[in-house]
Amino acid sequence: MSSKVVAVAFGAEEVPELLTAARQYGNVTVLTGPEVDIGALRRFGAVAAYVAEDGFMDPRAAGHAVRRVCEEVGPELLLALSTKNSREAFTRASHSLGAPMFTDCLELTVEGGVVRASRLVLGGGYVATQETSGSPVFATLMPGRVTPSEAPSQVDLKVVELVTGGPTNGTVKEVRPVERSAVDLSRAEVVVSVGRGFKKKEDLKLAEELAKALGAELGCSRPIAGDLKWMPEDRHIGLSGKWVSPKLYVAVGISGQMQHIVGIRRSRVIVAINNDPSAPIHKEADYSVIADLYQFLPVLTEKLKEVKR
Ligand SMILES: Cc1cc2nc3c(=O)[nH]c(=O)nc-3n(C[C@H](O)[C@H](O)[C@H](O)COP(=O)(O)OP(=O)(O)OC[C@H]3O[C@@H](n4cnc5c(N)ncnc54)[C@H](O)[C@@H]3O)c2cc1C
Repeated sequence: MSSKVVAVAFGAEEVPELLTAARQYGNVTVLTGPEVDIGALRRFGAVAAYVAEDGFMDPRAAGHAVRRVCEEVGPELLLALSTKNSREAFTRASHSLGAPMFTDCLELTVEGGVVRASRLVLGGGYVATQETSGSPVFATLMPGRVTPSEAPSQVDLKVVELVTGGPTNGTVKEVRPVERSAVDLSRAEVVVSVGRGFKKKEDLKLAEELAKALGAELGCSRPIAGDLKWMPEDRHIGLSGKWVSPKLYVAVGISGQMQHIVGIRRSRVIVAINNDPSAPIHKEADYSVIADLYQFLPVLTEKLKEVKR
């Protein structure tokens, strides 16, 4: 296995999954930001690491750093988990190098110099298989596709500090931390998810109480986080958000558009609570409850509490 792969991690939490995926394609050099756990890089099989200075979370600076590491290492493949940051940084770096790029890959194979990717296209409704024989190839993988496993053998890691060189155009006036939840939804065992069936933010209390009774994490459809700002961005589930695979997924007041469904398909059991019998979510659900959530949720939560008593 002599191929060189550069894995770009935009946070320490990405390392186990990203490196497990990257190891299948060759020897892995990691590029990451200053909040790095060198022990984890070693355990998950990196042979070298470039640690960028502050500013790495700005995709312009990251794009610059990716390009520099690409020129130094000369990899056949550059890999990241699909996020807003990775897509922008990779677009910038691949464009400046004139290199091909695949985003949002479900599967990626490399054989005889040909990189073949299965990708979600047309809003998540279709999967396209595409290939290129260019080198290097940039690819972002949909999160949640690989179960992390430590490398069978580990090597002494060579660590290089990297000055990113800063953004390539413009200046950053202010950086504000994004509101983040303490929990990673993609690993939750039970999820209660809310949609636009809720009329106002205060009503989410009904779902919070149900989640508490079930020991569940709370998720949502995109409009609840993106448009209404009722919940943090990292709680939105679907094509452009988190992909979840819980034992139980309870969708409340969610219509079940394709972009939401692709993020919940790996749930073991799906329960839909929606008062419209023709809502698409009912076709995906193992159990459908056709009811007004305002009447049904308090009863369900009370029953669950009774069972626990
Ligand atoms: C490129 C792209 C990416 C996208 N990515 C995502 C994504 O990652 N995740 C995502 O979720 N969406 C995504 N979307 C948006 C998606 O297409 C839908 O618009 C969105 O999922 C709809 O959210 P919703 O189900 O909450 O709202 P709606 O579609 O408005 O559905 C609300 C549902 O609530 C029901 N309801 C109303 N009142 C009650 C009541 N009292 N009791 C019970 N049920 C009730 C209604 O019958 C309806 O079915 C994306 C769109 C695009 C174009």
